[in-house]
Amino acid sequence: MNTPATERTNLLGLARPALETFVAQLGSRPFRARQLMNWIYKRGASEFAAMTDLAKDFRTRLAAQAEVRPPEIVSVQRSADGTVKWLLKADAAQAFEMVFIPEPDRGTLCISSQVGCALDCSFCSTAQQGFNRNLTTAEIVGQVWLAVSELAREDAAAGTPAAERRVTNVVLMGMGEPLANFRNVVPALDILLDDFGCDLSRRRVTLSTSGLVPQIYRLAEVSNVALAVSLHAPDDALRNDLVPINRKHPIAELLTACWHYLDEQNGRSVTFEYVMLDAVNDSPAQARALARLLKGHPAKVNLIPFNPFPGTRYTRSPAPVIQRFRDELLQRGVLATVRRTRGEDIDAACGQLAGRVIDRTTVRLGSKVIGVAVQP
Ligand code: SAH
Repeated sequence: MNTPATERTNLLGLARPALETFVAQLGSRPFRARQLMNWIYKRGASEFAAMTDLAKDFRTRLAAQAEVRPPEIVSVQRSADGTVKWLLKADAAQAFEMVFIPEPDRGTLCISSQVGCALDCSFCSTAQQGFNRNLTTAEIVGQVWLAVSELAREDAAAGTPAAERRVTNVVLMGMGEPLANFRNVVPALDILLDDFGCDLSRRRVTLSTSGLVPQIYRLAEVSNVALAVSLHAPDDALRNDLVPINRKHPIAELLTACWHYLDEQNGRSVTFEYVMLDAVNDSPAQARALARLLKGHPAKVNLIPFNPFPGTRYTRSPAPVIQRFRDELLQRGVLATVRRTRGEDIDAACGQLAGRVIDRTTVRLGSKVIGVAVQP
């Protein structure tokens, strides 16, 4: 009898060394792991029976004990600008989001690393949802696997040329703080970069963090993906307010960690994300302060026009203010670009990903109250 689906090993969660061990445990040779990965990631196969260059009894054992299972799709929304947002199931009550952003020269997939987020940045809609749980490695890699196969399936059905909407870049900029889920994110990065896995170059995979300094040092030891940092303010007083983790790891410490990461990994530059909030962090003086922090360092600033969501107290800086801010940076020799807002009509833009999150803290509190009430 086959092992029930929930007890099977989801191969999307195993980076190559772990997959080699697994394959060996099934009595096959470790190098078969590479063949398996080829089927899974290059050919998009999920049925072991179809993997015809693997021995039949090995395929039977795989079918009994393993699976290739991406997250289940709850719903799909399409923006007028071509952006696609998928709501994916985490369990019966929880869901998280993934967004595909097509551009003429590339296709960027924005994936989530947690259901909700615990970091409480004041301008982010995911923060308002609270935190439920970490995504598993299989759920993180499964997003990429799923997007690739869904886009190919849709394009084939629509008769558009194959590879029209390819995933060329992956950014961990969806729901959650990737470095707060270090243990599951690192093997996922390994699979994204592995030649036998998604085979993406290190410059096409970007991890964005709100600034968990100790984990940036740890990441420097085990990965070399591109690093983006959500800075959002040029001074600690304001950043404490916008990105509360700053109280623990202030700007100077954060920047030192960033330069260390580049040195260690021979990286080109760190991208600093800076959300443009009207009359909060968008003055020319603040631009000059930001330039002083970054000047002479391998840094790029990506200005993100604030995307509003229900209940927020912030508004977006007017376009001329954003241009002026960018020009102040450029004049001081700091590279700066303005991020084009995509998928706004389907709430798929930066900071708008809300998914469906039941905050565990609230639930726990609730059950405690009930517990007290029912106990004699
Ligand atoms: N937790 C990680 C990954 C999320 S990345 C991080 O903080 O970097 C998502 C990016 O969108 C971050 O730079 C985040 O600060 C930014 N963002 C959040 N809310 C936003 C909003 N409402 N409008 C525009 N950008 C927002």
